[in-house]
Formats: sequence, C-alpha cells, structure tokens
Amino acid sequence: MCENCTFTLGPTVRAFEESFAEYCGLRHCVALNSGTSALHLALRCLDIGPGDEVITVPMTFVATAWAISYVGARPVFVDIDPATRTMNPAELEAAITERTRAILPVHLYGQPADMDRILRIAAKHRLPVIEDAAQAHGARYRGRRVGGLGRIGCFSFYPGKNLGAYGEGGALVTDDPELADKARALRDHGQRQKHRHEMIGFNYRMAGFQGAVLRIKLRYLDDWNAARRAHAQRYLDGLKGLSRLGLPLVDQKLESVFHLFVIEVEDRDRIAARLKTEGIESGLHYPVPVHLQPAYGELGLGPGSFPVSERLAQRCLSLPMFPELTDEQIDHVCARLRAALAPPVSRPLPSATQVRR
Ligand SMILES: *Cc1c(COP(=O)(O)O)cnc(C)c1O
Repeated sequence: MCENCTFTLGPTVRAFEESFAEYCGLRHCVALNSGTSALHLALRCLDIGPGDEVITVPMTFVATAWAISYVGARPVFVDIDPATRTMNPAELEAAITERTRAILPVHLYGQPADMDRILRIAAKHRLPVIEDAAQAHGARYRGRRVGGLGRIGCFSFYPGKNLGAYGEGGALVTDDPELADKARALRDHGQRQKHRHEMIGFNYRMAGFQGAVLRIKLRYLDDWNAARRAHAQRYLDGLKGLSRLGLPLVDQKLESVFHLFVIEVEDRDRIAARLKTEGIESGLHYPVPVHLQPAYGELGLGPGSFPVSERLAQRCLSLPMFPELTDEQIDHVCARLRAALAPPVSRPLPSATQVRR
C-alpha cells in the first residue's frame, strides 16, 4: 500500500524545502516546478509590473529575461566584466533610472557575481537584489552561500544543473517570511486556504517525487561541487600557457562551483568541430546574448550594444564538466585541445630534385 500518495507538494517537498533552506543558510525555501517559475514569482512577489524596469545581464540563459517580461516589466541590460563574466558593477549605476525596481545579477557558470559592489549600489538606491543562482547551487561569495546574499535567490533543478531533479524543478529562497508566504500562495493558484483564491495565481508546484529525489541528492551536492572544482583546477593546469585561450578566473573571494568550464577562443566553431571528430562533446553557453535574440528585437539593441557579452558569445566553448569526469579524460581533452590550437605543422616543400626523381 502507498502510504504517501501526495503526487504534488506534500511531505517530501516540505522536507526538501527545509533541507535546502538550511543548506543556503536561510529560513525559507519555496519549491517550484522550474527555475523560470522561481524568477517569475520573485518579481511577482515584489509587485514588479508594467512600466517598471529590472536590470540584468545579456549574457545569461534567456529565462532570466523572460521572467522580467512575464510580469510586464522591461529588461534593462548591463554588460558583463570580461574577467568574471558576471554583471559589471562599474556599469550598473548608469543603468538605474527612476523606473528601476530590482537588480537581477546572474551567477553565470557557477561563479558568484561581484555581490559586495552590486549590493552597495542597490542599497544606495534602495533596490532589492534578486539572485539568479540557477547555475550556482552551493557556490560561496566571501564564505556566504549564493541565493542568500540578496532579497530572494532563485534556483533551477533542471537535470543538467549542479543539483538536478529527475525532471523539471526549481525553488526560491529568502529570509523574508512575508515574501515566502506570498510565493507559497502564488505557486498554488493563489490560495493560502483551500478554495479561497486571494490573488491570481499559478500552478508552479513541485512534484512530490522530485522533492524526494532532491532531498537525497542534496546530501551529495558538496562532494559533487568539490569534484567539479578539482576538475576545473586540472583543466587550468593542463591548459596554462596557451596564449590564444581565455580561461575562467579563479578568485579567492569567489568560490565557483563550475556548473560549466568555459574557455574562450577565436576560431571557436573550428575547434568545437575538431574536438567532435575526436569524440569530445563541447557546448555553447551562450552563442547569442539575450539582447540579440529575435524575441527581444523590439528593444532595438543591435550588435555592439554590449561588446563584452557579444565577444564572449562568439568565443565561448564549454568543455566537458561533470563530477564523474576522470583525470585521464580531462588530460585527454587538454591534449586534444592543445593539438587543435597548435599552428599547422608546415611540411617543407619538396625540392625540385626530389620532385623530378
Ligand atoms: C537553467 C537556468 C534558468 C531556468 O531554469 P529552468 O529550471 O530551466 O526553468 C534560469 N537562469 C539560468 C542562468 C539558468 O541557467
């Protein structure tokens, strides 16, 4: 007999929420059906809507911007810093207007954004910071876990993320009990009490099964992240000295969890194709920045608007990165990449006499 037949939310999801909130060092976690839903509800909970502006980066997965559009607000982009590949705080203040309602930095590739500077500017302008931590479960900024640095943290448990469900999943974390309470109501058709729909809500509930899977997998997250960091270090050692290659920044105060290991190289497509013929799969995250996507054509932001993001989009190449990688596999990728980057060996032309013979 099935003792717990709750297929959506229920005790397994509640137990996961408690463990994940504790993991993030926060009081509240609201489990949802995706990271996109988490970003959407974060903005909804802060009553951001039409006529408002939310500042984010163009170099991210497009869902960061979708959430802003879903509430009817306008995404305003700030370029990334070329070294950290996250929001450039030096360009943030110039993007703030009287319509700005929130700042939404992204911890891209598992690397925490420059939160001290972002939070300082946000505080000065009394703006809430929402963290898109969909790629950075467990990453730390000056020792503190991401997701808990701003007002609301948003996570995705899409299977490919550092903490992945057996299907779709997401969560929002916060220390603010009122925001958490509102998010709980909104994810369940706007009801705090059955049959009483206080506001227009959504069906953003996490499946009970995913809660059970995630609570078990959470126990392994730190070990998996440590493995990813060790792999990243081996890549960095194996690839150093290649002048044509841009490598991820390693900074003492940023504890990246290397969701992705992204290198930068001029002839990216040729290198990717060559690695593929050798059985090495690579990825592109992301080849087109959000402001150049057709869906955002109406913003009128053409090529050249955010040169650092555009340059990374053209040159980025994600090397294999997952906890189960072996040292041999990493060394193999480094060796094949070195060979692919080496200038073509120029064979001496046959001399006239050799040709005649
Ligand atoms: C994966 C991801 C999302 C969206 O999460 P889903 O669970 O796929 O909806 C949002 N932002 C970033 C940066 C992501 O990587």
